[in-house]
Amino acid sequence: MNILTFLPLISALLVFFLGLVVSLHSNKKEVDFTFILFSLAISIWLFSTFMMFLNKGNVDLILFWDKFVYVGVVFIPAIMYYFGLAFTEKKSEIDKIILYLGYCLSTFFLILIPTNLFINEAFIYKWGAHAQAQAFHHIFLIYFTLYLILWFIKVSKYYNSDIPETKKKQTRLVFLAFFLLAITGSLGFLPAYNIPIYSSTYLSGLIFTLILAYAILKHRLFNVKMIATELFVFILWLVILAKMFVAETTKELIMESSIFVFMVIFGGLIIRSVIKEVKTREEMEGMAEKLKRANSKLQKLDEQKTEFISLASHQLRAPVTAIKGYASLITEGSFGDITPKINKVVKRILQSGETLSSTVNDFLNLSRIERGKIEYIFSETDIKKITKEIIDRLKSTAKSKGIKLKLCVEKGDYIKKVDTEKIKHVISNITDNAIKYTLEGSVGILLSKNKDKILIEISDSGIGISEEDLPKIFEKFKRLENASKIDSNGTGLGLYLAKQIILFHDGKIWAESDGENKGTSFFIEL
Ligand code: ADP
Repeated sequence: MNILTFLPLISALLVFFLGLVVSLHSNKKEVDFTFILFSLAISIWLFSTFMMFLNKGNVDLILFWDKFVYVGVVFIPAIMYYFGLAFTEKKSEIDKIILYLGYCLSTFFLILIPTNLFINEAFIYKWGAHAQAQAFHHIFLIYFTLYLILWFIKVSKYYNSDIPETKKKQTRLVFLAFFLLAITGSLGFLPAYNIPIYSSTYLSGLIFTLILAYAILKHRLFNVKMIATELFVFILWLVILAKMFVAETTKELIMESSIFVFMVIFGGLIIRSVIKEVKTREEMEGMAEKLKRANSKLQKLDEQKTEFISLASHQLRAPVTAIKGYASLITEGSFGDITPKINKVVKRILQSGETLSSTVNDFLNLSRIERGKIEYIFSETDIKKITKEIIDRLKSTAKSKGIKLKLCVEKGDYIKKVDTEKIKHVISNITDNAIKYTLEGSVGILLSKNKDKILIEISDSGIGISEEDLPKIFEKFKRLENASKIDSNGTGLGLYLAKQIILFHDGKIWAESDGENKGTSFFIEL
């Protein structure tokens, strides 16, 4: 007896184990079921072959075990065809008839096994033994070959049909497995015709099952780690069990049995914990996938919102311009003289029109920024000049509130390559805020230079900002409570847009305040 004798046994045990793994983790698909049947038939074939080799010296036992070999083998053509149908997920009426015919033929040959019409007399050769084929064995081989051909036709058709790439890959593996089975099958029958074969041929039964198992399990929730652990524990059990059988003394037997019991419990626990871990991970992966989907949905909604704002703002622009234009023409007297009372009212209309127009512009700019469609036109700009223009424009508003508006410029040149209109918009917005959120006192702008950097500081003695709110004011649509009380018309977009514009210029923008009612200072560094 040498190691080669054990090859069929090892193969049988591993094939059996694979069947066990699939049945443990099966999601109750037909493919799984046929695979389990397959592994059972093949392990019967391989195990009985081992027993036959073990009893090579006894002709009766050779015959006895070889009959067992065929208990597994006679069913292989039918199971194979069944597997083909389950795998291709298509069963026509003819397929069903072929399948049932296969069952009948296999059962017919099963009944013949005990008689001498199937196999009889032993053939013993160097590496093993086999019973000799009789008349019905030849017929069985025709049945085997025919079903193998039918199987290949069926699966080839499936492969050439319109199936996803993953399925194609899987089918290629299945082809490989059955190609191997075809070779193994034909070689395995050779000793029945007095041609000896080398024992390692029986390994191909294992390789066939391995490839098939891989093809089935690859795209499932099966985990290599889980299966490897199960295999490891299973082998460990087998080794200890084998040692139990070869124990020579009672003491040894007790020892081995205790180890076996311990290993069964311990191994079971390991398998359980691995399964649990794998399940948890799978659950987490599932949750991450769900989150990803929810996130992309949200992103789409956000895009739709931006698009809506852009559309709505565009639609609003024309009527607002018309309102502003006509109101301005009325106050200028283009439509004849008007009473001071009406003049006052129309001026209010003009003011409201301007507020609305700036809000619409903010919305438009927001949607442009979010869609990456904002355009910057850079040119040499005198920051001192544009700041002066802003002060001139806002003077009357500050004056009407009783607030002093001062500009202080340190020595130096304030020329920078920027988008003039946008920087003007930022400074104007922040100065406007300073006036808006100051009830009394003053607003001052200080221009200074640090090397080639320009610093614009806009300070006010207004409502101030608490320390925890300071970082929030640059967020989109963010408005603080104390500000909303003073002015309910704000959008909370001004500072957000200012930050985006300054960041595009590689500049910095930030705010400082000692707290509520202690004034605020905004800084822009360009
Ligand atoms: P809006 O002025 O339209 O509300 P902004 O984006 O310009 O929007 O400003 C966001 C918020 O920052 C304001 O609602 C206000 O709470 C706060 N804020 C801005 N400037 C000042 C300031 N000078 N003093 C106090 N709070 C300010």
